[in-house]
Amino acid sequence: MNDLSAYIPEMIETRRYLHRIPEIAWTEFLTSELVIKRVRELGFKTIIGKALFNEEYAYGREDDVIEKAQKRALSMGMDPKLLEEMQGYTGCMAIWETGRDGPVTAFRFDMDCIAVEENHDETNEAFVGGFDSTFPGLMHACGHDGHTAMGLAFARWIKDHADSLKGTIKLVFQPAEEGTKGASGIAESGLLDDVDYFIGGHVGMDPKLHELGIITKGFLSTTKINVSYTGKPAHAGAAGQEGRNALMAACSASMQIMGIARHGQGNTAVNIGTLHAGEGRNVVPVHAKMELEVRGANDQICKYMQERALKMIKGSAESYDVGCDIKIMGRATNVVSDPEMCDLIREVATAVPGINRVFDYDTITSSEDCSLLIQKVQSHGGKAVFFYYGCNHNGHHKSDFEIQDTESLPLGFAVFVGALKKTNGQ
Ligand SMILES: [Zn+2]
Ligand SMILES: [Zn+2]
Repeated sequence: MNDLSAYIPEMIETRRYLHRIPEIAWTEFLTSELVIKRVRELGFKTIIGKALFNEEYAYGREDDVIEKAQKRALSMGMDPKLLEEMQGYTGCMAIWETGRDGPVTAFRFDMDCIAVEENHDETNEAFVGGFDSTFPGLMHACGHDGHTAMGLAFARWIKDHADSLKGTIKLVFQPAEEGTKGASGIAESGLLDDVDYFIGGHVGMDPKLHELGIITKGFLSTTKINVSYTGKPAHAGAAGQEGRNALMAACSASMQIMGIARHGQGNTAVNIGTLHAGEGRNVVPVHAKMELEVRGANDQICKYMQERALKMIKGSAESYDVGCDIKIMGRATNVVSDPEMCDLIREVATAVPGINRVFDYDTITSSEDCSLLIQKVQSHGGKAVFFYYGCNHNGHHKSDFEIQDTESLPLGFAVFVGALKKTNGQ
């Protein structure tokens, strides 16, 4: 571990800087600026802006939110030239070509935060350390600040050890993981089509500090859907017959969707997360908006849930004679890591001083859009794996989430470095 200690102070400083400026999905402009400038200084080739995505699959982008974030970034001193170069798209792929024959290996680091207000009191390690969030209502409550900081430390290590490496290394700094929005556009960009090995990691979840869990298989396939119904207004008492009720269409669809018959071949889940409707007590409701998600143990089961839900959404529109607009806002799939890659991570992690337990961690309850990058790499014969390096958090996406950065991040970092030595060392 000794040769890695030189990389820790900058990694921690970067993580704490990012923790103070958490940016939500697709608005990671300040975060991207830090990443792009740092990797360019180090000599990496970068792919940014629209070139990083297949725009058709870049889900859940909200123009007004993105525009506001760009203004905030500029007001905080962001380089306007770089902002222009980014074309409204956050994220970066940093590519290191060693010039020697060897495999193409990709690593993924996500960058976005959660819409939760951080605890600004002594119960929170970030407050105690003086690096709690300065953006109201936003917090790095999933550790992606640590991921980005680790990716940058990893980039510096790669530059410093370039002479001992072969092949090509691609670092994917991915925006918008939360809500499973960001990965799909990168998966469909073609930029991963030449990848032989793919490794993704995340801090937290079940593994505790000093533990590491390898996802041999897991995660749920999921689709996030926004629905917007548009009816016709009318005086609710005097001319109800002239109105078309968007609220009733949304309620009817909600009740039906929660009752979708479950699939016999694997786990399913469905949730109507929000429903906003109506204009006033005595007006037939014209507008209704709902946000929902379906999940399944694999793509096939998720597709079943999605198709049933869409039938009910459209059927309710028909019943109540209202217009209906459906938008896919995010997507992820399940993961089956390749056994040889699981072995590789197991071997590397077991040798890292400070990691006391390495176990197979088959989570079947959550979703992670790194799965789409993994699926893409595996679809052309590449090998992939996903793992969690532990920390003692109080629950992801919560106002008191914490990661003990000085202890957890160096362990994850050592695994990334060790894995790269195995795949691309010469
Ligand atoms: Zn999360
Ligand atoms: Zn996360």
